[in-house]
Amino acid sequence: MKDNSNFSGTPCLSEEAALKGLFLGPQAENREWVSSQITTLLTSWFNWRRGFRPEDGQAISARDMASADYVKRRTHTEEVLHELTARFELEIPKFSPRYIGHMFSEISLPALFGHILTLLHNPNNISGESSRVGVLVEEEAITALAQMMGFSKGVGHFTSGGTIANFEAVYRARTRCYNWMSAGLANGVCSAFESAAMGFQNYDGISDEIKKSSIKFNPFEANPFTAAADISHQTGRTFKGPVLLIPEHKHYSWTKSANIFGLGAEALWPVQLDAHGRLDVRDLEKQILRAHKEDRPIVMVVSVLGTTELGMVDPMDEVQNLLDSYRQTHGWHLWHHVDAAYGGFICSLRGDDLSLSNALSERSLKAIESVGRVTSVTIDPHKLGYVPYSSGAFIAADEKDYYQRSFGAPYVNFAASKDKGPFTLEGSRSAAGAVATWMTAKCVGLSQDGYGRIIARTIRLRKELEEGLKKEIPDLVLAPSVDANLLGFCLAKKGDSLKKVNERTLRLYETFEVDKKSDFFISKTRIYQKCYSKYFENFISSWQGEIDTDELVLIRICIMNPFFRTKEMKVDFQDLFIRSLQERLAKLEIT
Ligand SMILES: *Cc1c(COP(=O)(O)O)cnc(C)c1O
Repeated sequence: MKDNSNFSGTPCLSEEAALKGLFLGPQAENREWVSSQITTLLTSWFNWRRGFRPEDGQAISARDMASADYVKRRTHTEEVLHELTARFELEIPKFSPRYIGHMFSEISLPALFGHILTLLHNPNNISGESSRVGVLVEEEAITALAQMMGFSKGVGHFTSGGTIANFEAVYRARTRCYNWMSAGLANGVCSAFESAAMGFQNYDGISDEIKKSSIKFNPFEANPFTAAADISHQTGRTFKGPVLLIPEHKHYSWTKSANIFGLGAEALWPVQLDAHGRLDVRDLEKQILRAHKEDRPIVMVVSVLGTTELGMVDPMDEVQNLLDSYRQTHGWHLWHHVDAAYGGFICSLRGDDLSLSNALSERSLKAIESVGRVTSVTIDPHKLGYVPYSSGAFIAADEKDYYQRSFGAPYVNFAASKDKGPFTLEGSRSAAGAVATWMTAKCVGLSQDGYGRIIARTIRLRKELEEGLKKEIPDLVLAPSVDANLLGFCLAKKGDSLKKVNERTLRLYETFEVDKKSDFFISKTRIYQKCYSKYFENFISSWQGEIDTDELVLIRICIMNPFFRTKEMKVDFQDLFIRSLQERLAKLEIT
């Protein structure tokens, strides 16, 4: 590893070099250009003000500025700012290639410029009344993200993150489910499940009169407890409410949603994972049939594009095929939501250049090719999009699914056709995340030649790091079947019990935690037997370990920094990281 040919000093390809201009660089290499761009932004902002009604005259005079209290306040503000700046020196150096912990890293310069510019103008994207430009840029950014994911059109909005985007999905799917269920029951159908899956065509065919009479069944309009009693009476069995089918490796925002939307944790029906830690489509089929049998309407089926733990990509294609087949044979229209909060930008790898798309396994590629067929998605530009917080988005394929129930506000002038405000769970919304994403779409590019290059590179680096770790540290066991730029490992010798392995892995992890001036920043996660059953058991059987506890501790690494292993740098971070691990293990006497 010592004389790695990557560090031979050969210049990088021109298209790779060009991408380096999109980030500040670990040593602030692009600082001069960044300064000049930010100065230009400020100058235009000043001139914009000065150009609006200069005849109004100035509010702050030279005499004001010279007054003692004025100067005192200013000096005080400078001091406070100085103090705060110093405090932030203690912040985690996420810009460094030595930060390989969670899915955040350098932010891209186009995103940063867009973010700063928006902060200066401060539009509130709640409505066109309070944001003239921001709302339009948001529309364009949503269209760009929707296209990257494979939707032909797509309608949506930016949220403060993936959690709220997932809530937006549950909110709409639940509304659709309740509307269909109520109308179907009022129209004489006896199955809550089948009513709730009737499809818009059937729903639109039901008269307004019947829909009005369905109010008593509709927990959205009526008291949910009396509604449940009415439904039980109509169907002849106790109505237990709808369910949400969700794979075992779900993000914890889904657990929150069960609470917030009043579904109850019982209504989150887990779908088992297969031996590779991905949603098991055969189990999904079982759960759907069980919901039908128990007459529990399905709010939605969720699959995950890039799990938060290890970046696994669920077989969205197979899930959608299954749902399509139910639609054909039974007329069931089931909502399929893809939680791509972490992995959404992986869709930029789709395209003709196989050298880039081949960063993914054939199976994952096939899965991401199918995203265009699903009902809705969550995507977080503030994760793999290298966009500053807070920037998430919810996108539905079909307007009808997006525009469900609206809420008006007496003091906001909503122009019904354009404003998203009446349809978003959040009220006031910053345009900054949308504008930052718009800038990245224009300047980085949501295709193979933009994000595709960056993400393919980080996936390649993840694989190289895995190779290196395997070769240099004999007792290190890698998490199998990872798909993206996350990797996980534990430390196990042949036959070791799980408790012993966890203890060893944790001790290694703690050496990073204790030392605040650590040379590298990493993260850890836990895999539970009850969630990952087959994957968990296979993993442990790979070292013939004894399962004496129900969880497996993993050190988790996310390779996102675009400069990890840049050959121009003096150090090879992969090499350095592996050596650092070896030294720590030697010190702990767990070599
Ligand atoms: C991060 C993540 C979320 C939540 O996103 P926030 O932006 O942190 O609210 C949801 N789902 C998945 C799969 C995630 O990785």
